Amino acid sequence: MHLDRFPRLSLAHLPTRLEPMDRLSNALGGPRIWIKRDDCTGLATGGNKTRKLEFLMADARDQGADTVITCGAVQSNHVRQTAAAAALLGFGCVVLLEHRIGAPNQSYLTSGNVLLDRLFGAQVEHMPEGANVDECMSDAYDRLKHDGKKPYLIPGGGSNRIGALGYVDCALEIGQQLLQMELAIDCLVHATGSSGTQAGLLAGIAASSSPLAVLGIGVRAPQEIQEQKVFDLACATAEYIGAKNPLKRESVVADCNYIGEGYGIPTDGTLEAVELVARLEGILLDPVYTGKGMAGLIDKVRNGTFRHAKNILFLHTGGAASLFGYQPILEGRWREDP
Ligand SMILES: *Cc1c(COP(=O)(O)O)cnc(C)c1O
Repeated sequence: MHLDRFPRLSLAHLPTRLEPMDRLSNALGGPRIWIKRDDCTGLATGGNKTRKLEFLMADARDQGADTVITCGAVQSNHVRQTAAAAALLGFGCVVLLEHRIGAPNQSYLTSGNVLLDRLFGAQVEHMPEGANVDECMSDAYDRLKHDGKKPYLIPGGGSNRIGALGYVDCALEIGQQLLQMELAIDCLVHATGSSGTQAGLLAGIAASSSPLAVLGIGVRAPQEIQEQKVFDLACATAEYIGAKNPLKRESVVADCNYIGEGYGIPTDGTLEAVELVARLEGILLDPVYTGKGMAGLIDKVRNGTFRHAKNILFLHTGGAASLFGYQPILEGRWREDP
């Protein structure tokens, strides 16, 4: 199984490291926890979107595009990485930011990823709350066309079957590493949002007949909706790559019990996870995705879900740039310390 026939640009620093987190594992007293460092993929502080953009930007180039359009939440990591890729490749970049959280503070609106979007020279536009994202995207497309540009639409999170190829590739990379390390992983845990990461992983696992189990920790949608979204894209991706083994609906698991009040609103568990991993491992998680994913992992170690497991792998999907958009919330946590 290889992806050579799909157009691809080299943007990511690969393979990313797969290493143990022994101080965290010891502190929790459960299975050994490993981390796959997809926060170190390169491209503007890294993250999971770099792998997707290798395929998406190659497709944009092959279609003769000169401008990419994408969308996301105000503190979207995907938008920031797309803006960086566009800068690197000499594309124009229009980004539509969606106001998903109720009462954002000044850091959220101007620092972190938003600051970087502007640094990369992206044209930043804000969608009104409750706006129809698809409509806004197609309006931007029409407008750019009218202005004589050749636009290319990248969906939110880069999650279509082209972007998902990045995580098919990651599944193969992990398979290689586990083989070399003679390591058996009981479960791979990661944060799931727009679904391309989990869908790509599952398609790659099916294509390579790997026994790896994947657990997504949802950050936005309820379980049934999230799992269906992942399953649909995983099936489309598996078909796209010609995977022979059919995907089973039961292999798609997204636990959406760690969302709390909603997307982009960190829970106490999220902030605890961010702080614990920073203080025990010197690694930056983020308050929107990986902090929630790790909060789920930690809770499952504590409640015994993983009591029969020896090795758990956390896929670090990036996002640390948004920490600066959450400055007051993080500082609030330390003010409460006695
Ligand atoms: C986008 C993102 C995710 C979720 O990946 P999807 O492919 O959208 O499900 C997880 N972590 C971080 C840091 C992200 O930016």
